[in-house]
Amino acid sequence: MSSTLRFEVVGEAFKKKAVEVPAPSERPSDFFGKYVFTRQKMFKYLPAEVYKKMCDVIDNGASLDLQTADVVAAGMKKWAMELGVTHCTHWFQPLTEGTAEKHDAFVEHDGKGGMIEVFSGKQLIQQEPDASSFPNGGIRSTFEARGYSAWDPASPVFVIGDTLMIPTIFISYTGEALDYKAPLKKAIHAVDKAATDVCRYFYPDVKKVISNLGWEQEYFLVDEGLYATRPDLLMTGRTLMGHESAKNQQMDDHYFGSIPERVAEFMKDLEIRALELGIPCKTRHNEVAPNQFELAPIYEETNLAVDHNMLLMSLMKRIARKHGFRCLLHEKPFAGINGSGKHNNWSLATDTGILLHGPGKTPMDNLRFITFIVETLMAVYRHNGLLKASIMSATNAHRLGGHEAPPAIISSFLGQQLSDILEHLENTTDDELIDIASKHGMKLDIPQIPELLIDNTDRNRTSPFAFTGNRFEFRAIGSQANCAAAMIVLNAAMAEALINFRTRVDALIEKGVDKTKAILQIVREDIKTCKPIHFDGNGYSEEWQEEAKRRGLDTERSCPLVFDRYLDESSVKMFEITHVFKRNEIEARNEIKWETYTKKVQIEARIFGDMCMNHIIPVATRYQSALIDNVHKVQEVFPAEKAEKLNAKNILLIEKISEHTSFIAENITQMIENRKVANRIENVREKAIAYHDTIAPMLESIRYHVDKLELIVDDEMWPLPKYRELLFIR
Ligand code: ADP
Ligand code: MG
Repeated sequence: MSSTLRFEVVGEAFKKKAVEVPAPSERPSDFFGKYVFTRQKMFKYLPAEVYKKMCDVIDNGASLDLQTADVVAAGMKKWAMELGVTHCTHWFQPLTEGTAEKHDAFVEHDGKGGMIEVFSGKQLIQQEPDASSFPNGGIRSTFEARGYSAWDPASPVFVIGDTLMIPTIFISYTGEALDYKAPLKKAIHAVDKAATDVCRYFYPDVKKVISNLGWEQEYFLVDEGLYATRPDLLMTGRTLMGHESAKNQQMDDHYFGSIPERVAEFMKDLEIRALELGIPCKTRHNEVAPNQFELAPIYEETNLAVDHNMLLMSLMKRIARKHGFRCLLHEKPFAGINGSGKHNNWSLATDTGILLHGPGKTPMDNLRFITFIVETLMAVYRHNGLLKASIMSATNAHRLGGHEAPPAIISSFLGQQLSDILEHLENTTDDELIDIASKHGMKLDIPQIPELLIDNTDRNRTSPFAFTGNRFEFRAIGSQANCAAAMIVLNAAMAEALINFRTRVDALIEKGVDKTKAILQIVREDIKTCKPIHFDGNGYSEEWQEEAKRRGLDTERSCPLVFDRYLDESSVKMFEITHVFKRNEIEARNEIKWETYTKKVQIEARIFGDMCMNHIIPVATRYQSALIDNVHKVQEVFPAEKAEKLNAKNILLIEKISEHTSFIAENITQMIENRKVANRIENVREKAIAYHDTIAPMLESIRYHVDKLELIVDDEMWPLPKYRELLFIR
C-alpha cells in the first residue's frame, strides 16, 4: 500500500457514520425465537401425538423412529416454507474452529417433468456429507472415508436466510466422533447419571441433573477498511507487528465506558438477530482494551449454550461487516493490551434448583452443597493439566499467563467464607461431628454460613476457576474456541469424581456406617486430598509459579506439550469410564491439535516474513536513502565542521535503521531455515514442538525490531495502519 492510500483509508475510517438500525416494532419477548422451531411451533405444526413423542425425545432421550421423523420433517417444512425457506442443511461442528454446512434444496422431480418440494424424515435425521477434507486425525483414512451427520433433537432447528439449519453430530462410519457435539453430549449424559445418583443421597426423588453453561464472549471491532490493509489481520486474525500506541488502556477509560454510536448500532443489530435465533442475550459492555467489547446471554443447558455460542460468533462476524467493521475473535489481536477470552460459567442443577447453590434451607441442602463443591474441586484437582489442555491453542497461548488473563496454571478460588467452611469441616474430628450432629440435629455448623455467601464471593480476577456464588467460572477459555472442548473435560471429570465419591460412600454404608456420617467422612477425606488446587491468592504473581510447582500442579506452558495431558493414563481412564472418548479417538484428536498448532505458526511465519521483506525493509531502506541524500546535501551546503555536527543525528538514524533491517533480514532467513528443518520432521507432535521452540519465538524477537523501525521511519511512508489508528473507533 502506498502511503497516500494509507492516509485515505485511515481518513475514511475516521469519517464513517453509524449505520442506523431501526428499532423493531415488537418487544424482544415477541420476536425472541422467531426463526427457531421451538416447542410452541412444534405444538402448532405437529400432530398432538407426535408433539408428545418429540417432547419425550428431547427431555428424556427417547429414540426417534423414521415414521415419526417423517411427520416432524413435514411440520418443519411447512413452518420453514412460510418463512420463504428453500434449502436445508445439517449444521455441525467439525474439529476446525467453526461450523460446517452444505445446503440442499427442498426440490425433487415430480415424475411429470416438474418439481416438488420435498423434505423427508430421513433427510432430517441423517446425512452423509462428502466431508473427506475435515480433520479426522487419521481415523477415516485407516478405516472408512465416510462421515455421517445425525440430528440432535435436543438443539432446535432454526432458519438463517433461505436455509433450514439442523444441528447435528458428526461421526465416522465406525462411530468415532469427528466433532465437538458428540463427545459433549456423552459428557453431559455421564455427569447427569453420576450426579443424579449422588443427588439421591439427599433428595431421593431426583430424576435428572442438567449441566448449565453461561458464556461471556469478548471481542474486538476494527474498521473494515483498515483491516483490509493489514495482511496479518486478514490472514491470521492478529497483528504480527505494530508498536503500542502512546495511549491505550492505561487510563481505564474504555472499561464500562459509554459505547461509541457506531458500535452501539452494531450491538443493537446483533442482539436483535441473536434474539430472533433464540439466543437469550442479556449483557453488553465495553471491555478493558480500546475497541474491546463483551456480550453475555442468560445461561442455558450446556449443549444448547454451545450451539448458541457457535451461532453467535458467526453472526458477530457477519453483522460487523454490515456496519463497516471486522469482528476479531482472536485471543490476542494486539500486543500490549488485553486479549479476549470467553468465561464459561458452569453449574449443575436439578429441575428444582442449582446444586452449587448454598446454603440451603435444611442441613441436607447444606451437605449437598458442600459435597458438590468439594467434588468439583476433586475433578479440577485430578485433571488440572487436562483442563488446561482443553483450553490450550496456538492462539490462546498468547493470552494465558500474561498479566491480563488467567495464568497457565489451573487452580480454584473459593473466597473467604467457603474456604472457612471447608477448613472447619476438615479440622473437625468424627466425634465432634457426631457431637454437632446430636446437639444441632446434624447441622454441621453450616447454618452459621451467613446468607451473604451467595452473592458475596470476592471477585478474584486472577483465578482461572473461581467460585462465584452459585457456579464456577472457568475463565481460561479462548475467545474463538468452541466452548465444548472445555465443557467435555469439565463435565466428564466431574462425572468421574462423583462416581468415585459414590463408590466410597456406598462402601462405608455397606459396612454399616450411617449415610450422613459416611458422606461427611468422604467429603473430609476429599477436602484434604484436593487442597493443592485451592488458591485464593494472586495468580499473576511470581511466587505462585513456584508454589504451584511445589503443590504438584501442572505448570507447563508449551502448547504442544500441554496437549500431552490428553494422553495421560489418568485422562484416558477418565474418558473411558465416562464413555466420552475411546483411546483411539483421543489419539486422533491430539494429532489434529498438533497439526493445527503447526499450521497456525507456519502461516504466521510466512505472512510475517512477507510483510518484513515486502513492506517493512523496502520502506525503511527508502527512508534511510532519503536520510543519506540529506546528509550529502548538508555537506554540499555547509562547511565540513558544521555539516558534521548537523548530520550527527541523521547518521545515528541511518545506523539504527541499518541495525534493525539487518537483524530482520538475517533472522527472517534463519526462520525460513528453521521451518525447512521442522518441515522434515514426520512425527506431528515433534514437528509442533519444533515450531513452538524454534519458530514461534522468532516472530517475537524479529517483531521487536520492526516495531522499533515504526518509531523511526517517516509516518507518511509507513505502509501499515498503526495501533492508534486501528484501536480508536470514533
Ligand atoms: P460477570 O462479568 O460479572 O462475571 P456476567 O453478568 O457478564 O457476569 O455473566 C455472568 C454469566 O453467568 C451469565 O451468562 C449468567 O447467565 C451466567 N450464570 C449465572 N448463574 C449461573 C449458573 N448458576 N450457572 C451457569 N451460569 C450462570
Ligand atoms: Mg464473568
